[in-house]
Amino acid sequence: MTLPLSIRNLTAGYPQQPVLEGLNLDLEAGEFVGLIGANGAGKTTLLRSILGLVPIHCGSIQVLGKPPITARAQIGYVPQKHLFQWDFPITVEQAVLSGRTKAIGWFRRAGTSDWRAVYSALDRTELTPLRNRVIGELSGGQKQRVLLARALASDPQLLLLDEPFTGIDAPTQTCLNRLYQELTASGLAILMSTHDMVAARAYCSRIIGLQRCLVLDAPASQHSVEELYTFLHHDRVSPA
Ligand code: ATP
Repeated sequence: MTLPLSIRNLTAGYPQQPVLEGLNLDLEAGEFVGLIGANGAGKTTLLRSILGLVPIHCGSIQVLGKPPITARAQIGYVPQKHLFQWDFPITVEQAVLSGRTKAIGWFRRAGTSDWRAVYSALDRTELTPLRNRVIGELSGGQKQRVLLARALASDPQLLLLDEPFTGIDAPTQTCLNRLYQELTASGLAILMSTHDMVAARAYCSRIIGLQRCLVLDAPASQHSVEELYTFLHHDRVSPA
């Protein structure tokens, strides 16, 4: 069966600085994987590599059996909240529609199937009542839901989340997690970078630790929150 994500012996990074070295990783359909690592360990670089945005020096990345550029329409990406341009004068609905850009293409207007995908994503993220609000007026939790709806509008099979719990209160976190669990139950694979070890251990099925290559790969229940924080500060936990 074709895996949502398969990375083999990957060395990737920036011209003067390879950030990831000899990295191997498979994700199966329905997995919710937490990606942890110290500041600068390469978590965002890994997510951007999977999107085809970082040069690969050697090795390979396959998304659903295809190179990232070819599979881009099937990857949903939720960037860190502060990286989105919230002062853009567009509504929630328009922001979510921008997640369909790859599916719509340059020479076509949004059609019925595109709007159906947008309304379905708004509904799943409980944003329908806010769909005509300007995005800059939203709370932090609402903004996080807009980013998720925008990623879901492309009907992805692989979802990449970059620090989705930063600045999010506990009820919104619980609500988002419920949605992540529903999505994985329907076969979506999720890779989530996070510094929140409590959330990673509670919500993810598996946790991987990055320090240029993978130095931890275990079921989430295998390590305590304290051990995971130890990993974050010392880069390694002893194997169970
Ligand atoms: P954090 O937890 O702080 O967000 P991270 O694990 O996501 O960190 P990355 O952002 O992937 O780490 O950065 C890994 C390394 O790559 C860092 O040393 C960083 O300075 C470097 N780096 C990131 N972006 C670029 C870039 N565009 N050009 C050159 N180097 C970069």
